[in-house]
Amino acid sequence: MDGEPRKALFLDRDGTINVDYGYVCQKERFDFIDGVFELCRKARRLGYLIVIATNQSGIERGYFTEADFEALTAWTLERFREEGVEIAAVFHCPTLSGDDRKPKPGMFLKAKALLNIDMSASVSLGDKERDVEAGIAAGVGKNLLFVPAPFEKDASFENENKAPENKNVENNGAFENKQKGCEKEIKKPKTAATAVVGSMKEAEEWL
Ligand SMILES: [Mg+2]
Repeated sequence: MDGEPRKALFLDRDGTINVDYGYVCQKERFDFIDGVFELCRKARRLGYLIVIATNQSGIERGYFTEADFEALTAWTLERFREEGVEIAAVFHCPTLSGDDRKPKPGMFLKAKALLNIDMSASVSLGDKERDVEAGIAAGVGKNLLFVPAPFEKDASFENENKAPENKNVENNGAFENKQKGCEKEIKKPKTAATAVVGSMKEAEEWL
C-alpha cells in the first residue's frame, strides 16, 4: 500500500462497543456502551483508523451463523456511520482455535497488512485480558483494558466480597474487594495492559 503507515484504534466488540450479554447476535440485544461513539469520533479527528477485531466463537459453537454475524455487522457499521464514524475494517474469528482467536494476534496482523498500520503508534481497547495480550503480541503501542466502573462508591452497596455483576472480566481471583469504612473499592485487576480504564471518556485520554 502506498503512503505512510497510519495509526489505528483497535476495538474489541462485545463488552467494549456493546454490552456483553453473551453471544450477542441480533440488533435487539446490541446496546452500545456509553461514550463509544465519542471515543471513535475523537480517534478519527486525531487520525486513527478504527478497526474492530472480535472473537465470535458463537459461530463454531452453532449459536448463530456467519450470515447472522454479517447482518449484525452491517447494522452496526450503519449505526456508527449515523454517528459520524467510519469503521475501516472488521475482523472476526468464528472458531475456537487458530491464529486469529485472541489472545493470538492474527486479526491485528491482518489489519496491519491490509491497512498499512503503524502498530507502535496504535491503541487497542478491550474488556478482556486476551484483548490486551493480542495487542501486545501484535506490537500495538498502547493496550487498554476496559473495566467499567461497576458501581458508585456509596454505602448502599450490599454485595460485600463479591465481584460486581455486569462486568466482563473473568473473576479468576485477580479482583479483590477492599473495605474502607463503609466505602468499597475494586482493586484494579492484574493485567499486562498499559492502563485500565473505567469509561470510554478515560480511554480517550490515551489517544
Ligand atoms: Mg469483549
